[in-house]
Order: sequence, then C-alpha cells, then structure tokens
Amino acid sequence: MISQIKALEKISRLLEPASAERKEVRDKVISYSENFLDEIAHAKTYIAPQENQTLFNSPISEEPIAIEEVINLIKENVDTPGLNPASGNYLGYIPGGGLYYSALGDYLVDIANRYAGYFFAAPGAVQMENMLLNWMSELAGYPAYSAGNLTSGGSIANLIAIVTARDASNVQAKDYDKMVVYLSEQTHHCLDKALNIAGLKECIKRTVPLNAQFQMRPEALEQMVVEDKKNGLKPWLIVASAGTTDTGVVDPLEQIGAIAKKEQLWFHVDAAYGGFFLLTKEGKKILKGIELSDSLVMDPHKGLFLPYGTGVVLVKEKNKLLQSHAYQANYLQDISISEDDLSPANLSPELTKHFRGMRLWLPLKLFGLKLFKAALEEKLLLAKYFEQEIKKIDGFEIISTAELSIVTYRYLPKQGDANLFNQQLVQEIQKDGRVFISSTVINGKFTLRMAILSFRTHLENIDLALAVLKEKVVSWQM
Ligand SMILES: *Cc1c(COP(=O)(O)O)cnc(C)c1O
Repeated sequence: MISQIKALEKISRLLEPASAERKEVRDKVISYSENFLDEIAHAKTYIAPQENQTLFNSPISEEPIAIEEVINLIKENVDTPGLNPASGNYLGYIPGGGLYYSALGDYLVDIANRYAGYFFAAPGAVQMENMLLNWMSELAGYPAYSAGNLTSGGSIANLIAIVTARDASNVQAKDYDKMVVYLSEQTHHCLDKALNIAGLKECIKRTVPLNAQFQMRPEALEQMVVEDKKNGLKPWLIVASAGTTDTGVVDPLEQIGAIAKKEQLWFHVDAAYGGFFLLTKEGKKILKGIELSDSLVMDPHKGLFLPYGTGVVLVKEKNKLLQSHAYQANYLQDISISEDDLSPANLSPELTKHFRGMRLWLPLKLFGLKLFKAALEEKLLLAKYFEQEIKKIDGFEIISTAELSIVTYRYLPKQGDANLFNQQLVQEIQKDGRVFISSTVINGKFTLRMAILSFRTHLENIDLALAVLKEKVVSWQM
C-alpha cells in the first residue's frame, strides 16, 4: 500500500507547481491580461461568434496542455466573441467595468483560500465583509442594528430580501392567495423570479400605475392597498426601484416609505443599479427616502465598477435576516456563534462561499472613496450631456430623461415604421461594434437606451456614440 501511495503522491504533488513554474505561467497570464488592458480603449464592443469556433473542440483530457495553448483558447473562444463589457464604449444594459485591483483582490483571496462563511474560521475575512456592509448601511442611512450579505449579484440579493420579508411578515402558505405584493411595470424581472423561487407564486401581484416620468404613483399605491384591505386581502410587500433598469428613474421613496409605514407593509427597495449614486450629492437627493426601507439591494458590480459577481443585500433589522437564514448542524458544533460576530453563513443561503469582501475592500482602500465619487458624478453629467446632444440631432426624441445615468430615446424616421427603424438601428450599431447600445420597449415603443456606468466611459466615449448614431441615421435617411 505504501508504495502505491508514494506512486500516487509523485503524480498528485504536481498540483503544486514549484516557484519557477509558477513564475513562468504567471508571467504569461500577466502578459496576456496586460495586453488586454493596453488594447481595451480600441477594442470592439461586440464581435459575432464564428461558426465552429468553440471550446467543445478542445475537450478535457488526461494529459495537460501548455499555458500558451490555454491562453490562446481563452483569447479566441472566451474573450473575443460576444459583448465586451470591459470597454468604455459599452453602453448597453447596465455597465460596470471590472476594476483591476478587484482582480488582484480575487488573486489574493484564492491563494490563501480563507473560509469566510464563519467568523470562527476567518475572523478577519468576516470582519472585512461586515465592515464593508456597515459602511454601505451607513451610506443608505440604515441604523447600527442592521445587517447584510455580500452576494453573487442583485438577483440573489433580492431573493434573500424577499425570503426575509416573507418570514418577517409571517406570510404562510395557507394564506398565499390573499397576500398582495405591490410592484410596477418597471420592476426588474428578478423580483418576480424571486417571488416565484420563494414559493410565493400564488400571491396576488398588483402593478402600480406610473406617472409620465415612469415613477410609481404613490397615491395610486395607497388607494390599491386600502381597497385590497377593505376586500379582505392581506397586503404585505411593496417593492420600489431606485432606479429602474429600463430608464434609471427612481420611484418616490419617501412617499412610498410613508405609505408602507402607515399600512404596515414590508418596504423593499431594489437599488441594484442606482444605489451607489448615494456617494454623490445629486444622487443623495434623488434617493432620499431609501433609509425608510426594510430591506435594500445594491450591486457593487454595477455602481462600484467591480467585476461581475458582487451584489449586496441590507436588512434594517438584523434579527429578521438571521431568523430566515441562521441554522445549526451537528458537524458545525465546533463553531461558536455570538451576536457580535455575524457570520455570512447565518445571513444567506450559502455555506462555503467566495470571500467577496476582498475584491471590494482592496480597490476602496487603494483608490480611496473620492475617486469613486468623482467617477459617479462624472457618469451623472455624461448622461445629461448625452441627453442634451442627442436632442440636437434632427429626428431624435427623448423618452425618459437622465435622472441618474440612463437616457432612453428613439429616432423618428420621416417615413416608415419607427419601431422597425429603431430595431434595425440598434442591430446596425451592434454589428458595427465601435460602441454597444441596447434597447427596450416602453409603452409599446421600441426604445434605445444609453446606460452610462463603466468607470472607463468618459466624454470621448459618449462623443463616439453620438457620432455613430448620427452617422447611421444619416446614411439611412438618404
Ligand atoms: C441589474 C439589476 C438587477 C439584477 O441584478 P444582477 O446583479 O444582474 O443579478 C436587479 N434590479 C435592478 C434594478 C438591476 O438593475
């Protein structure tokens, strides 16, 4: 047996490359990523996949392949086809970017592999995450007795909030068909998905009407709640958006918060897109009332420019988050749980998890907050600039104005179907690849979106987008 163990050891020890081999592979990886960054300013924002070019052509095999070949596979198959969200010319959906120091943070985390699920296992790692969550709580105007979790993104963060709201509101299966949830047409679809996953599919969903600025109308909301109560139904949850994915518009949080308080409903705010504008003076004004919510979602992989994979949920009353997520198991008996060292495993569905705090903490520490504030303020102004300039191009109309950093607009052709024209316009621009824009449908109209949130997007990128838009409509209107 010993000889067999030793023979296997000889092979399995190769999983730990020696210093020189590590350096060789690392240098190649660094050189590839440096090259990526050096070229990002001129890289295309969309490249159509080539037929027959796929990783399936290189199956997992017994024998290793060289780093050069691996990098080539990544370059050709992963980093080339499709969207390029790392580009400053990426102006579709909700951009983010991917700060370099986050990558270094992930590198450090993966090397040390601390177990950040429990305070007992990695007190420093858990403290780092809790310290970041405290900072964000404070930013949102939440009290010291709040708690939260760093999630993989906004969808999971919203799910955690919905489950917490369900349990805290004592919503029971036998009553589902009487329980009413208030949303709007502009609520992100992940909330409907979260309700579904949380088992709440049978709840009644009311779509609160919007005003001309695409904001939820508080008086209509109040009327619906009162009416539903009168009819023996049980309103329990209001979901507001700050701001919406389509238009970036923020619902009137103060007024909605007051209604939630008066009618004793759980008030959830989805600020996955807009939350970090709290770091700006203007944003703070627009987001006033966010502190009235019972739970809140923000996405650092949007508003703090992190690489994908980081969302945040905050719950005003720590105990409610714990009540839905804290568990004990026999095999965890060595883990001491105390009130003061909140552990992520007791605040989320995850047990073993990625130690996400570092990818957020490192850039915040190395850059300092003032860089983030300036970048976010710049994005707000760039959206206003875009709105002002697109109006100057004959034929464009604004659908929703730049409240935060999204503008929706469309082109009205002199003849022909406007929906079809704008659809072709967006496709043409995507194919061109210099800038990437996405579209949506608002009030039945095919609408273009300008979403500015990459830390790499500056005036020159917006000017390029304006030039491309102008060029395309001019060449088509001949
Ligand atoms: C992006 C977004 C979400 C979903 O978050 P993910 O991080 O993509 O899972 C939810 N709500 C709003 C308003 C968003 O913009």
